[in-house]
Amino acid sequence: MFRMAKGSLLIFAAFGAFGFQTVPVHASSECQFGTSPFVISSDQTQTHLRWDINVQEVFWADDSPVSGALADYRNWALSVARTTSQSELIDIQRKSFVGYPNMQRRFDLVISGQAGAIERATCLENLLIAEHTARFPLKQYPSEFMAFVLRDATYGSRLRIYFSSGDGKSTNYGPPVSIEILSAVERDIEQGWIVLFHLHNHPFMLNALPDFLGGTVVPSDGDLQAYELWSQIYFLREARITNGFSTIRIADTDLKMLESTVPGVSSVAGQGSRF
Ligand SMILES: [Zn+2]
Repeated sequence: MFRMAKGSLLIFAAFGAFGFQTVPVHASSECQFGTSPFVISSDQTQTHLRWDINVQEVFWADDSPVSGALADYRNWALSVARTTSQSELIDIQRKSFVGYPNMQRRFDLVISGQAGAIERATCLENLLIAEHTARFPLKQYPSEFMAFVLRDATYGSRLRIYFSSGDGKSTNYGPPVSIEILSAVERDIEQGWIVLFHLHNHPFMLNALPDFLGGTVVPSDGDLQAYELWSQIYFLREARITNGFSTIRIADTDLKMLESTVPGVSSVAGQGSRF
């Protein structure tokens, strides 16, 4: 069921010619940050932002911002990928990892629901991918953003979000990593902030690598190695990966299960080490 809020838009992206299901996308003016971010740094290739905002219930809802950039990305992904079903996308990607039993096991853990939960992307997740694709359009080049989402120590009303967005060209498609932000998160934790979750996106790779569909929300080896480190430094309790349609939410115990599928670094060179 999709919530229909007052003054909202219900956009149906229909691509009947391809014979796949119509995907309803809910967007409303309620889903917004409500304030401009502080710009930590920004240039042609990457942007790092911080929001200090009050928690809003809509952030956790099945909702999207009214964003031309996000709608443009979704329409493109639907028309080219022809499906946004994670089971179908993972099944396609799984075939390219034949011969890598650890990866096969990871795909199986995710698709069976034993590790992580895949749900529709929430308003906050959609706001962040909208910010990313507005700067670096995902239909032009596959690129990633990442965000640390922090809450004040008492689980009160404050959220702090560090957002890093890049063009993907100098980072092997991955998100830009800011040492300044990593240090800031560490300082915030010392001052009582809690890292609620880390979020990044996995782009569809329909232009750069025609045979590699991408768009799956299964963590890579690089993702899991980072999560393992951040669970020690930042007490990371949840990791999320989105593609602007679906998001996987992986709690700490499930992260451990998935980390067990990462083989020794020396044996995985070139295999899924992209963040
Ligand atoms: Zn990743």
